[in-house]
Formats: sequence, C-alpha cells, structure tokens
Amino acid sequence: MVKRYILTPGPTPISEEVLMEHARPLMHHRSPEFSKIFIEVTDKLKKFFKTENDIFILTASGTGAMEAAVTNSFSAGDRVLVASAGNFGERFKKISSKFGLNVISLDYEWGDAVNPEDIKKSLDENPDIKGVMLQFSETSTGVLNDIKTVGSIVKKYKAILIVDAISGVRASDLRADEWNLDIVLGGSQKALSAPTGVAFISVSPKAWKLIEKSNMPRFYFDLLSAREASLRKPPQTPWTPGISIIVAMNKALDMLFEEGLENVFKRHSVLTMATQKAIEKLGLELLVKDESKRGYSVTAARVPEGIDGKELTGIMRTKYGVTIAGGQGKLKGKIFRMAHLGYFGIFDAIIAVSALEMALKDLGYKFEIGAGITEVERVFMENNYLNT
Ligand SMILES: *Cc1c(COP(=O)(O)O)cnc(C)c1O
Repeated sequence: MVKRYILTPGPTPISEEVLMEHARPLMHHRSPEFSKIFIEVTDKLKKFFKTENDIFILTASGTGAMEAAVTNSFSAGDRVLVASAGNFGERFKKISSKFGLNVISLDYEWGDAVNPEDIKKSLDENPDIKGVMLQFSETSTGVLNDIKTVGSIVKKYKAILIVDAISGVRASDLRADEWNLDIVLGGSQKALSAPTGVAFISVSPKAWKLIEKSNMPRFYFDLLSAREASLRKPPQTPWTPGISIIVAMNKALDMLFEEGLENVFKRHSVLTMATQKAIEKLGLELLVKDESKRGYSVTAARVPEGIDGKELTGIMRTKYGVTIAGGQGKLKGKIFRMAHLGYFGIFDAIIAVSALEMALKDLGYKFEIGAGITEVERVFMENNYLNT
C-alpha cells in the first residue's frame, strides 16, 4: 500500500471534520434545515471577504465564477482590461474574448507581479474601460498581486474591479470593502479546503449598476436571478445548489474563524517560509525572484537542468504517494508547485519536501539528502510554529 497525500493548491486537503459534515444525510435545498445553514454560510463568507456587499453561492468550480463575473458585468463589445501574470490571468482573457469583449491586456513575465501603475496608465489612456480583471494570488506562479493599491487606483475611474481571489484569500489578508473591490471570487476547493464544486462571488453597488445594464446572454449564472432568489424569505438559490458542499463549507468556515484569521495568516507564512528555505537549501531556484512578491498559497520552483518536471512529480505521486502540482501552460515540465493553502500543517510541508528529496535522488540530482527536511524543522522551531 502507498498512503496518498494531496498537497496541491486546488483541490486542497480536506480535514476529517469537514469530510464528516459532507457525509451527513442529504437535506432538501428548500427545507428550513438547509436554509439555516445557507444563511449562515453566506454571512460567514462576507466575514471571510471582509465585505458588506452581496455575496452569492454558485454551484460550479472557480471558473464558473470567473465566467459569471464577465457575463454579468459587461455587454458584447465593451472594453475591459486584463492584467495577466500567469495561467489564470490568461483564463480571464480567454473568457472575455469568447464573450465578445474588447480586451486590452497587460502581460507580465510568469513569475513577476502586476504593476498597479500600468493599470493606472491604461485607464488614463482608455477612458472607456468598463472593468479591470486580475488575480490576487496567481496560482500558476505563486505571485501575490498588490490588490490594495490596484483598488485605490480603480475606484477613481468608472471601471469596476474584478478580483479572482480563489487561491489568495485565507493565505493572505483580503479586505474587499476597505480596498474597494467590486467583485471578488472564491472557491470551495481552494481556500476553504472543502469539497470541489462551489464558488462564491461578492458584488458591490458599483458593480450592480453595470450588471443591471448588461445585455450579455446568460442563464445559469445570472446574478439578477441569484439576487431575486436571495431576497425570498427565507433566502434561496435560483437552482439546486451543491447542498452537501455548502454544509461542508459551513464547518470549514467555523474552523477558520476558530483558528482566527491572524493565526491563519501566520501559519501560512511560516509554512511558506519553511518550504522555500528548504527548496533553496536543495540548490533549486524559486520561480518568483522578488521575495516581496511571493504569496503564501503556493511555492513554485524550477526543476533542475536535465530533469523533466513531469517525471519528477510523477515519481513523487506514484512511488511515494505524494501529489504536488506541476507547471501549467508554458511552464509545463519546467516547474513544480508546493501548496500551503488551507488545511496544511508542519508535517505536510515535511512530507512534501521529503518526497521531493527522494524523487530528486532517484533522478540523479546531486545534493545532501535530508538537507531540506532539516531546514523545514529549523524554520518551524525558530518561529515557534507549534505555539501559534
Ligand atoms: C483554481 C483557480 C481558478 C479556478 O479553477 P477551477 O478549476 O475552475 O476551480 C481560478 N483562479 C485561480 C487563481 C485559481 O487558482
């Protein structure tokens, strides 16, 4: 038997407590029993996003929420700005183009962060831009964009700001209202460490004005239908939601607030630091060179010269039972990604680094075995991790 570990930035590992909730007997989505949970989850998600805006639960993976943001906010031919620093930035471009928007893109090297000044310049040059889209954490590279500064810029224009925080929220502090974020996206299987299949989206009054005017065809993801259903007594979703996933999310949110957001951020930052120091100790290069631009959801590192990244992650998975992520898009085979997002603790970092070391040895890479794990232990102990 090989014991299996999923240590990826999505889906993220799920705790036994959350799995038990997911396994509860099915409730009917129009029952008072489910209504109570639905209302609670919606309120907790607002607290999670630090917002008083409306928030809607969509039954879809995160990409469904990205599509909903695009099809609800704009009309065909509208000009939008996408700042893309990786695979998920590219996805915003693809969705926008498919729906006939006029996309201006700011493209960054994969591993660099979006420069907020470029967004300002673009908005000044193109006053007809209706929306700005970008990621908080770009999961394909591990970069964290400075959304606070972007928010302070975009609020002065007529454009709305759409932030994909699917992998960023929880690992790092996100303040939707204080930072003037009009639409924020999240997903059950990322930051909440809950089962896959539910996304959530917050909507500001500025965004509602556009949504009410948009003539883009949409049905399942129509936020006006979602709002109408949310105003029923008790609040509902227009269609059958992912009932068991929402029940599981309720527990995941409780665990998050029990730990306390500040402790959650600290845990993610120590896990990230320990993993990154270990990787560097093995002589490998981190993808995001500028330390101040690294997020706390996932760490990407380059595979050593002469080794195929797919083979490396393949050995880790099949021989050692440890699934980490490889590169996406143009980084396929060139990097590996180790996650810290959600239900991750000290020994997950040790498992990931240990499997990495053994697979690197198998592939003939020269280094001192155990050096990485020792580094993880050192960083944890120096940061008094177990007492947080
Ligand atoms: C995972 C992810 C998504 C959505 O992907 P799904 O597979 O549809 O859940 C979108 N944006 C980011 C930044 C992500 O990490």
